[in-house]
Amino acid sequence: CGIIGVLGKKDVVPSLIGGLKRLEYRGYDSAGIATLTAGGIDRRRAEGKLENLERVLEGNSLQGLAGIGHTRWATHGVPNEVNAHPHMTKQIALVHNGIIENYRELADELTAKGYTFESETDTEIAAQYITSYIDDGKTPEEAMAAVLKHLHGAFSLAVIFKGHDNLMIGARRGAPLAVGWGDGEMFLGSDALALAPLTVRISYLEEDDWAVLTRDGATFYDKDGKQVERPIKQTQLSG
Ligand code: GLU
Repeated sequence: CGIIGVLGKKDVVPSLIGGLKRLEYRGYDSAGIATLTAGGIDRRRAEGKLENLERVLEGNSLQGLAGIGHTRWATHGVPNEVNAHPHMTKQIALVHNGIIENYRELADELTAKGYTFESETDTEIAAQYITSYIDDGKTPEEAMAAVLKHLHGAFSLAVIFKGHDNLMIGARRGAPLAVGWGDGEMFLGSDALALAPLTVRISYLEEDDWAVLTRDGATFYDKDGKQVERPIKQTQLSG
């Protein structure tokens, strides 16, 4: 239901939690964050209110210079911790708003290739599908371009990749997603409000766009993989 992503200069967990608080108004039934760590990717998730996630983090802290966060409004799979985002594989962590309509068909393809699922969500199928492309030797950018051709539905996505400390990819189809420009830091968010304390310089993804972020900036692509320009707008929001 709400997405936030940060490629930062310092620990991003406080910014992720702050962003999720600003997305609370959309409603949610669970929340979670994932960061790139020295060992790979790690995550914390909790059913219910953000306070529950904060309590989990007090007992078992998480840090990282890159991360994603999510507030979930369950559509496929009950609201519990296992179904909460981020969904994680050996290669990536992913958060998702909306619905992937053809997830059953994609799940069958993946099952035939030996992939397994731990949650009941449509989201995890997208995570495993990207993973299957990376396992096949595609780069994160190639994997993302390929998976977007297979996903049907209305959704937005944010993804971080194990072993890629300076990379985050976002995609939009039927659900909003904004890129925030910082000074040596870059952000993704469901809306400019979520990003207001971090930056007021925002580019909006257009329908079927996807964006490749590094700490130096963002490159935008349309659904055919053609590079496109998206203007940076100055919002009037304040943190
Ligand atoms: N369809 C996904 C799920 O049920 C995402 C829901 C959302 O937008 O929060 O987990």
